[in-house]
Amino acid sequence: LCMKEKFEPVLTPEELKAKLPEWPYFIIDLYHWDKHTQKEKGKVCLQVSQSYGLLRDYFTGKELAVTWANDEFKSMFHGPIDRIITYGGPTAEFLRERGINEVVLLDPWAKEVLSEKDFDVGAFIIGGIVDTGGNKKKTTPKIGEELDNAGIRVRRRKIVLKGDVIGVPDRINRILGIILKMMVEGKSMDEAVYEFQ
Ligand code: SAM
Repeated sequence: LCMKEKFEPVLTPEELKAKLPEWPYFIIDLYHWDKHTQKEKGKVCLQVSQSYGLLRDYFTGKELAVTWANDEFKSMFHGPIDRIITYGGPTAEFLRERGINEVVLLDPWAKEVLSEKDFDVGAFIIGGIVDTGGNKKKTTPKIGEELDNAGIRVRRRKIVLKGDVIGVPDRINRILGIILKMMVEGKSMDEAVYEFQ
């Protein structure tokens, strides 16, 4: 497996971009920021930074946006703040300003599983949520409700391993990595999940 990976042809960023109709935004939504402890906030920041690193491997990283990004987030974030988009307001407003009216929300509580039919949207949204205490159960669907109320069409989609969300890593950056593996490298969901376990 290692050998195969090593010698797989690597596409240039231009070739990758040509493969996709339009490169989407990847949005980390900090709507639930205030529900986190200071330690958890630090973890959110780290995972955003790692998400930037992942996206940069594929493209520029500029496609990474953080919404509801307040001053506390900006001061706690140790990554390259000028290389990502920070947006202080609601996700729906960010989307509307860019003419995006339909998104995929990555949601472990969704009924439907993410598939390649979903890769045509303008933005993928991942909850900027870290669970160490048990106080944030079912917070991702709330992000969907917010968007829905603001008139954005939301496709709620889950990532599963052999049909089950159990066994899927729930770190923000790993969820992003799984989507990128599927979308850009054409891997199956199970393969992509295994690579990020
Ligand atoms: N406590 C949250 C809840 O109950 O909704 C889950 C937070 S999880 C640590 C962080 C984010 O990763 C979620 O908001 C979601 O966007 C994404 N995520 C985690 N596991 C996922 C899965 N199996 N399928 C889709 N998205 C997932």
